[in-house]
Amino acid sequence: MLRSRNAEAFLDGRIKIKQKCEEPVTMAKLGVNRDNQKKTNRGIVLRLIATRQCTSRVDLSRMTGLTKTAISQIVNELIEKNYLIETKKENTSELGRNPVGLDISPRAPRYAGVLVQRGYCEAVLCDMQLNVLKIEKIKKEWMDAAELMQAVYTLLDHMLEGETNVSGIGVASIGPVSIKEGMIVHPLYFNEVENIEIRKQLEERYLLPVYFDHDNQSAAQAEQLYGNGRGYQDILLLSVGRGVGCGILVEGQRYHSYSGYAPEIGHISIDYNGVPCVCGNVGCLERYVNSPVMLARFRETTGLDRSYEEFCQMEDDPQVDEIMRDMIHKLTNAIVSALNILNSQIILVCMDCVIWPEKYIRMIEEEVNRKKFGNREVRVPVKKAYFLERTQVLGAACNAINPLFQGEQF
Ligand SMILES: [Zn+2]
Repeated sequence: MLRSRNAEAFLDGRIKIKQKCEEPVTMAKLGVNRDNQKKTNRGIVLRLIATRQCTSRVDLSRMTGLTKTAISQIVNELIEKNYLIETKKENTSELGRNPVGLDISPRAPRYAGVLVQRGYCEAVLCDMQLNVLKIEKIKKEWMDAAELMQAVYTLLDHMLEGETNVSGIGVASIGPVSIKEGMIVHPLYFNEVENIEIRKQLEERYLLPVYFDHDNQSAAQAEQLYGNGRGYQDILLLSVGRGVGCGILVEGQRYHSYSGYAPEIGHISIDYNGVPCVCGNVGCLERYVNSPVMLARFRETTGLDRSYEEFCQMEDDPQVDEIMRDMIHKLTNAIVSALNILNSQIILVCMDCVIWPEKYIRMIEEEVNRKKFGNREVRVPVKKAYFLERTQVLGAACNAINPLFQGEQF
């Protein structure tokens, strides 16, 4: 068993967090005391440096609106605690002075992330700038919870091996999940795997803080902090794989219901007379555009025994193109429904969408902007996720990094 140097501090914190979550809504305390404000400011400063939006004290003062004295005080504290280092910026002045820059210290904590999917688990070890230090995947169809957890342990053991400065573990899982309980509830088509208290099990094994969220919610956060969502507050992230899922950020925050369940776009119905879905509804988006359904259509129509990826590259084949266009049309139908509720500023697509030819991404953008109801004068861009096929697993690591940026780990 691996032990963290700050295990006790973590356990204290976890108890506090649990108490906070269980408070009734009416008892929520809205005030911000000075101590919390200080922690929040430290988190913001770290976020701005880690995500490369600021590289000096002057930048920080300009971006945060805090005085130079306040910034200097925070920066000095963060240097002392080995989060930041001073660097020499490039000499641009005629006087030959080298202004002092700021960067994340090589001695700053590292973060592990683990992604739970149908057919595979993947783990990553990152620094605070989301640079990948280790990454590993185990492919398998999970038959039960024990088999899945064994793979998660193997991967995390490898990520944490020889590491003495890992500050937390982030977990991202296919849904439905209960964020509050830290539990994978009962994903569809997931054999006997259900009701896994994964956060609790990992905390007990590794004695590190564990942060758990839905895979696409985590991915959306990673993109907002470090990827193509930078500069946007309202993000809709869509992923197409064996299922169809989404992540939603509203005003920069992940959208969660009070019950702790994450959003599920795959079960928006696009046809009220459509095919029945295991969820109980009919005409669910996921029944028409998930990758196995698409692959079956490609193979049946063309008579070719090729992979999903190979078919995606056959955009000049009229049969393949027609199926892709039909899929894009169905997908866009659901995106427009979601967009009319959320009014997101940008749509990011990931998982198998990253292997689609760019022309289909442009088609989504065109159709979405032609059909959306609100804010018609502003075009909503549609882009592939910056981290491509790694978006979800990096999202898992982000689940562990983001609390630091929120000022929770000081
Ligand atoms: Zn459904």
